[in-house]
Amino acid sequence: MGMLMIKCPQTGRAIATGIKSDRDSFLRSTVFFARTPCPICRTDHGWFAPEAWVQESDAESDAPNASARISGAARPQRAPRL
Ligand SMILES: [Zn+2]
Repeated sequence: MGMLMIKCPQTGRAIATGIKSDRDSFLRSTVFFARTPCPICRTDHGWFAPEAWVQESDAESDAPNASARISGAARPQRAPRL
């Protein structure tokens, strides 16, 4: 389980929506629209599900981070000498 987060359009900072969701069930859920009161701007921001992400709680930080592994695709290419 994690907290659904969105990016504040005014400040670009991540804010918690107060909605707890599992990453898999969130990705499977249908697109929805919601409004979240922003603690930074003190106003409501409307957002769509594709803009949100699930912030996993720190208690589960021992899970392997697969995205941290970079494959050899980012090999620098040598420019041809003219
Ligand atoms: Zn805001």
